[in-house]
Amino acid sequence: MRRVPKTPRVLKSGKQQLAYYQRLWNTILSGKPWHSEIVDKRKDGALYAVDQTITPVKDESGAITNFVAIQQDISERMQAEKKIEDSQKAIVNVLEDLRAEKANTEKEKAKDEAMLGSIGDGLIAVDNVGKIMVMNKTAETLLGWNMSEAIGKHYDDVISLEDEKGTDVPLTERPLAKALSTSSTTTATSITSFYIHSKNKVKFPVAITVSPIVLDNQIIGAIEVFHDITHEKEIDRAKTEFVSLASHQLRTPLSTIGWYTEMLLGGDAGALTDTQKKYLDEVYMGNKRMVELVNSLLNVSRIETGSFGIEPQKVAVKDVVESVLKDLSVDLAKKKLVVEATYDDVTVIDADPKLLRMIFQNVLSNAQRYTPAGGVIYFRASRRPTDILFTIRDTGIGIPHEAQKKMFTKLYRADNAQNVEPNGTGLGLYMVKSILDHAGGRIWFESEEGKGSTFYVTIPLAGMKQREGGKGLV
Ligand code: ADP
Repeated sequence: MRRVPKTPRVLKSGKQQLAYYQRLWNTILSGKPWHSEIVDKRKDGALYAVDQTITPVKDESGAITNFVAIQQDISERMQAEKKIEDSQKAIVNVLEDLRAEKANTEKEKAKDEAMLGSIGDGLIAVDNVGKIMVMNKTAETLLGWNMSEAIGKHYDDVISLEDEKGTDVPLTERPLAKALSTSSTTTATSITSFYIHSKNKVKFPVAITVSPIVLDNQIIGAIEVFHDITHEKEIDRAKTEFVSLASHQLRTPLSTIGWYTEMLLGGDAGALTDTQKKYLDEVYMGNKRMVELVNSLLNVSRIETGSFGIEPQKVAVKDVVESVLKDLSVDLAKKKLVVEATYDDVTVIDADPKLLRMIFQNVLSNAQRYTPAGGVIYFRASRRPTDILFTIRDTGIGIPHEAQKKMFTKLYRADNAQNVEPNGTGLGLYMVKSILDHAGGRIWFESEEGKGSTFYVTIPLAGMKQREGGKGLV
């Protein structure tokens, strides 16, 4: 507390406006106390914040004799208040930044969702244990699931995948499982024939592509993209039916040409000149090739429509192989190719004799065609714990590295094979593989260009799987 004379030096820090002093003096001179928070100047000239009350002191007559000023240094409080104010401002700034960031993220999210929504294919992303993280609109429509219901569920509970017969595809065979375990991009197309059975009980064929999501060399999930291929399947079926019909119809006139050419060549219509015989030989050979091609097309269409049957019975392997080699004997002799066949302890197996013959005929005729003159073809049948293994090795031109993965594709022929043998169909191995796939067997090969090839064929010890089907292969 200070007693202040009537003309005080006080309150002259220079920080207050003149009007402030006028109001102060007017108040205290009128006998009322004055209260304010101001900035004052210490004697050393330093400024400080004060809370002050100035009360006029009056004598008995009521005249103001002096003033009592109570001052409290509130610099610290003011500083604390300033700090609080500053931190409030900082918090508000951070909140504003957060709000802006959130708006931005939401915009990005909306953009991503719009992008996902615009994809015409179904898309599902799962985490590393197969739980669904994201699903787009098309996937919702195709699967009959809402994204909100599906998120967090295992994909196996949401995507019901079946094969053509309506059997559930085992978890280990599912593309997503493969992507999560192998880290390679796995593509499953219509050839694999997967069907999705939607929640609304709609079944449709799908083409599926899956890829793992890899972060820092670790698989953190996988993405499956799929689309309905009902339309493509329809077109494919119509095409196969057309090929089947056309090749069936072509067989009759081709047989007629074959018979009459044989008769002409046999002299049934009189003796032929050398030139006539030469020309007729060409007609006969050309017709034979045409019959082979048409038969292959018919077989492929029967395999693809699933209308061929497998009728296993006891078959003597050696008899079948020898009959094939007999048919090939002229061609083998022309190129002076030697065939060495061993049967170990394999005698009789359970197989469809026509199909077994077709398998050996294709693989052995390939060995004959793609082995240069003077080469050797080895055939070996051996028993293994669960199957019979047939090994067909040749010393031929081999299969170029880049052609190897396409070897069982329909109509595929490697360049080196086309050079040595222009007349091929590229259907033989495709057919053999399809037959074996249905019969429970397998085919694969090892080869190096210029160093020969080894084909391996297996038939289960239990025999070929029986298969009902109206038509046989020709
Ligand atoms: P095609 O023999 O009529 O061409 P295939 O389906 O039987 O049809 O064979 C497909 C392709 O596989 C052949 O064109 C050839 O490139 C390759 N191939 C098959 N067998 C052999 C073999 N033993 N040696 C080298 N190439 C082979």
